[in-house]
Amino acid sequence: MPVKNMTKKQIQVFFERLREQRPNPKTELNYSSPFELLVAVTLSAQATDVSVNKATDKLFPIANTPEAIYALGVDGLKQYIKTIGLYNAKAENVIKACKILIDKHNSIVPNNRADLEALPGVGRKTANVVLNTAFGQATMAVDTHIFRLGNRTGLAIGKNVIEVEQRLLKVIPKEFMLDAHHWLILHGRYCCIARKPKCNECVVSDVCQWPDRFEFGAAKSIPVKMLQDQN
Ligand code: SF4
Repeated sequence: MPVKNMTKKQIQVFFERLREQRPNPKTELNYSSPFELLVAVTLSAQATDVSVNKATDKLFPIANTPEAIYALGVDGLKQYIKTIGLYNAKAENVIKACKILIDKHNSIVPNNRADLEALPGVGRKTANVVLNTAFGQATMAVDTHIFRLGNRTGLAIGKNVIEVEQRLLKVIPKEFMLDAHHWLILHGRYCCIARKPKCNECVVSDVCQWPDRFEFGAAKSIPVKMLQDQN
């Protein structure tokens, strides 16, 4: 059975519940400046946030500016990030990006998509995360969790990440837009997981449109207690 699009009312309830569950959602990457965030997100491609945090917890106290990381050089940077997947390519990209930041942007991370995407290793998703998390812009970075969640729940059905991104930007009510990215990632990472979604403890199972949700224990209405328990 195909998944139906959520209605406007269902989308409103969906985000009200996610907000109630996590009033202050945040990225799980450790960072303390837009530059640290940019480096962390670049390193996180196809790697877990935990593995990136382990590396940056050692790197950032030593080098957390474009100049300082550039001074490490590719080989020096690799020593800090070699536990992260694809570290060879990532080290080269980060060093090249640092050089561009120094030469063209006064060592300041740009707050616009074009300049961010011109940096080596920075694609649309990374730019969206930085614009949203560091600069408070209402962007939507569609990763594997959000792509799955959008299609599975009927929140944003699309054949590719761009279609899902555009649909999300269209249907998410303004009041939720700034935090929506984090709510969706966290819900996808911890509840609406790929193989065995935890529909039995999901706070939005009554508005979710996935036809198989009841096989995974979805409730038809959400007991107030369930919401309270998860706060
Ligand atoms: S009910 Fe299941 S499929 Fe739907 S959002 Fe919740 S966890 Fe995901």
